Amino acid sequence: MPPSLLVEQKRERPVVVAGRDLFERGPVFIAGPCAVESEAQALRIARAVKAAGATVFRGGAYKPRTSPYSFQGLGETGLEILARVRAETGLLICTEAVDGECLPRVAEVADIVQIGSRNMDSSSLLKKAGRCGRPVLLKRGFAATLDELLHAAEYIHVEGNADVILCERGIRTFSGHSRNTLDLHAVLRLRERTSLPVMVDPSHAPGLRADVVPLACAAAAVGADGVIVEVHDRPEEALSDGPQQIEPASFARLVRLFGEVARLGCARS
Ligand code: PEP
Ligand code: MN
Repeated sequence: MPPSLLVEQKRERPVVVAGRDLFERGPVFIAGPCAVESEAQALRIARAVKAAGATVFRGGAYKPRTSPYSFQGLGETGLEILARVRAETGLLICTEAVDGECLPRVAEVADIVQIGSRNMDSSSLLKKAGRCGRPVLLKRGFAATLDELLHAAEYIHVEGNADVILCERGIRTFSGHSRNTLDLHAVLRLRERTSLPVMVDPSHAPGLRADVVPLACAAAAVGADGVIVEVHDRPEEALSDGPQQIEPASFARLVRLFGEVARLGCARS
């Protein structure tokens, strides 16, 4: 196998999003609802997460759902809402491209294109993401090894896009006490193997609201560069992932505690 450009690249380089290094001011907080449900919902939550310290708004316009009968996202309408959120709040936008068909349009609206866990090993989508002209947040497949995650990143890189952010979001294990198991060791191991930024999603692993803030703090302890968190101001009305979405006040607490734990420098040698 030829040497891996990303894996062996130890030089830190900025991830340039909308003309600036995304991580220049420290940990990055990407926050917002699981799915864009309406303009009013997205704008309300965007203003709340911005006030709490988020710099990037997340929200799915295209939702990869386990069941075809579940809410699939607003599609193009959702993207138009995200463009309005960006214009009205100044927040950057991170949203998922679920296939090669929606990717070009997603890349027009998004500052960061998300490739989801279910698509991490879709080489044709990864290649297209490598040519989309936007930084990519690459979520680890729920059954993927770190080698497989890094090779997926390499697919994006070889197409000329080195702006890849890795994201641990929980893997499937034998444990039945959470939706997925958040593999925080992965952050420590990825640090040794690549200089790419590593973020953590503390929402999709537990699937439970009460677990999100402590898992985010644990992510800070292992040196994560930031978190992507699901936040909803009326989670009981959410059209997807209601039980794991935290309210804006909890998100504000998460931002504060993450900063405090990160400053302890637990993961520094
Ligand atoms: C998401 O972040 O909206 C999502 C669907 O996450 P994952 O791909 O990690 O399941
Ligand atoms: Mn979700």
